[in-house]
Amino acid sequence: MSFNELGLSEPLLKAISDSGYTEPTAIQAEAIGPVLSGKDLMASAQTGTGKTAAFTLPLLEKLSRLDNPGNHPRVLIITPTRELAAQIEASAHTYGKYLTLQSLAVFGGVKIGPQIKKLRQGIDILVATPGRLLDLSQQGAVNLKNIDVLVLDEADRMLDMGFIPDIKRIQKLLPDTKQTLMFSATYSAEIRRLAHDYLSNPVEVSVTPKNAAAHTVEQVLHPVDKRRKSELLQHLVKSNGWSQALVFSKTKHGANKLTRDLVRIGVRASAIHGNKSQAQRTKALEDFKRGKVEILVATDIASRGIDISELPMVINFDLPHVPEDYVHRIGRTGRAGTTGNAISLVCADESKQLRDIERVISKPLERVEIEGFEPDHVLPLSSTSHDQSGNRSGNRSGYSRGNSSRGNGSNGNSRNRPRRNRNSSSNSRTNRQASA
Ligand code: AMP
Repeated sequence: MSFNELGLSEPLLKAISDSGYTEPTAIQAEAIGPVLSGKDLMASAQTGTGKTAAFTLPLLEKLSRLDNPGNHPRVLIITPTRELAAQIEASAHTYGKYLTLQSLAVFGGVKIGPQIKKLRQGIDILVATPGRLLDLSQQGAVNLKNIDVLVLDEADRMLDMGFIPDIKRIQKLLPDTKQTLMFSATYSAEIRRLAHDYLSNPVEVSVTPKNAAAHTVEQVLHPVDKRRKSELLQHLVKSNGWSQALVFSKTKHGANKLTRDLVRIGVRASAIHGNKSQAQRTKALEDFKRGKVEILVATDIASRGIDISELPMVINFDLPHVPEDYVHRIGRTGRAGTTGNAISLVCADESKQLRDIERVISKPLERVEIEGFEPDHVLPLSSTSHDQSGNRSGNRSGYSRGNSSRGNGSNGNSRNRPRRNRNSSSNSRTNRQASA
């Protein structure tokens, strides 16, 4: 399948080619046709599959075919986070660069005035977070009566974040007849219910098996005592010289503390979470993309929409409470065909979360102890049926060797002796639990 066969016109094909895409991803191949033909769509696709282009491209095409698109938005894309809104708008801008359509992202945390001014100038594609969109509507700054297509992106996340009442309110502002596209990484019963309420005869597209983690991500777990997690992270970052890693922290406070710990040892680290202003978040993300920041510490919500091509490393400093968030988190790496690493630092307190995650991804995570950081509080064995071998010590591609077992007396000495072995992926594989 090539982009030429999907019914997109020359200005879009040119922009696609400029972006360096040679062929459509699976979701693009399956979704673009139905969206162009006006069908409702329920797509189960995690981030990293090319889903943004899967809806943006056909919507641009549809708008470009209108003789007179008018002054009010025709396409409304609702997303759970500011970052995602900004990212989708940027994609619309990139793919639509040979068209004359206007797009705008509106979200909270920044002044509303400039958004109102831009809306007045006429917008074809509006990307919005729910709260700000309702604010704008209440102020009479946006007329949603001309919306032809509504996109609900990351519907599962909107559900988790409690946005469904807002979505219901927004629905009431839209025309009854419109095309609706819904995207969700997970396909829970609640999402199905939502789809049932909002979609009519949708084409269903699923490009990843339910909740399966992207197979291009190598996943490993380092058992460690809670009190030594920060120290272990510092050790791993220093000894491997990681220059671009996204670290997930459960709390804003934890993210700040971890960032301070890293900065103290000379690592260029920055935190991104809900207590930071939009300007701070944008700057941290830009600095991270440009390599000025090596380690970006994020909470789950802030991490949504972080799209950095070929992000090599994701680290779960804390395991998430919702197991599907694990899949989202590691979906930040190994995107669109590249291979990434996902590392989890797991303490005994987190054994329940670990069990839930292993159930969702249907496999045990390989356990590798790091020499000098063997935990006093043992992490229970995986409960997944194939996992017989328990914790292991070993080395992994690109980072520290840990050949000790618990209590063998070889403590801490290796901590300050970084060891890099970029070509040892085959070694790491031999250390993997047979079934993982
Ligand atoms: P998304 O799933 O929309 O977040 O997209 C993930 C990444 O895939 C983005 O960096 C896109 O630029 C990239 N991408 C989207 N479509 C393609 C394609 N057809 N070929 C290669 N990369 C793509």
